[in-house]
Amino acid sequence: MNKIYDDIKKASRIVVKIGTSTLTYPTGKMHIKRIDTLARTLSDLHNSGKDIILVSSGAIGIAVGKLGLSEKPTETNIKQALAAVGQCELMYLYDKMFSEYNNTVAQILLTKDDIAIPKRKRNTQSTFNMLLDMGIIPIVNENDTVSTDEIEIGDNDNLSAMVASLVNADLLVVFSDIDGLYDSDPHVKRDAKIIPIVEDIESVRSLAGGAGTKQGTGGMVTKLDAAELAANDGINMIIANGNNIEKLYDILEGKPVGTLFVSKNYIHE
Ligand code: GLU
Repeated sequence: MNKIYDDIKKASRIVVKIGTSTLTYPTGKMHIKRIDTLARTLSDLHNSGKDIILVSSGAIGIAVGKLGLSEKPTETNIKQALAAVGQCELMYLYDKMFSEYNNTVAQILLTKDDIAIPKRKRNTQSTFNMLLDMGIIPIVNENDTVSTDEIEIGDNDNLSAMVASLVNADLLVVFSDIDGLYDSDPHVKRDAKIIPIVEDIESVRSLAGGAGTKQGTGGMVTKLDAAELAANDGINMIIANGNNIEKLYDILEGKPVGTLFVSKNYIHE
């Protein structure tokens, strides 16, 4: 398994996913310091020669904060309207923060059809490749404004795995509000321990528990689904705590951080 950490060190195309609970305070307002750390770290890695793709949640959550709503609505039409408000705010901030570090970002909003319909998939892939060739950092979210039940991906954990596969990424890093996958519920058991490496995702399904935070959509269940998608496409995935985005440097130095889900390429080696 040492080979896997060597390969992670060499990863040149990296998809980073960041969730709403990492980008916002419990008040719903933006966590500016963290977004700045994210922009600085990703810009620095990009400057070092790596292709970076950011999958960012937060559109709906940020609109909840901006419009002063007491909680996240459940009705699709309201969420669609909020996403239109929040996506704008989100990209405004990313554009500003990444510009501070002399990096250019681009917005890509996707629905399930853009990945499922071969012609649209090819177009999407070609746009990603062109942006990456131009030295731009694509920032991806689901197109929540037009997403309805039939065409929604539903959560950005799965979206990030789909994007990783679309762009042929070497590594997917999912930043969450938890350090990784635990062997028991850390909210209940004080001696719960992080599982550093998972080779068989099915064997840890029972540890996933329920839904995630109030702000976001995903929880551990969607993260394991994403890990499975990525693993089947030959991509290693790491879950790490978004409190410490700079751990990306450690990850890319081949140090164990959070939980690593091993891609199928390494099994039975
Ligand atoms: N696309 C949603 C948003 O930007 C987030 C989905 C998720 O949290 O997984 O608000």
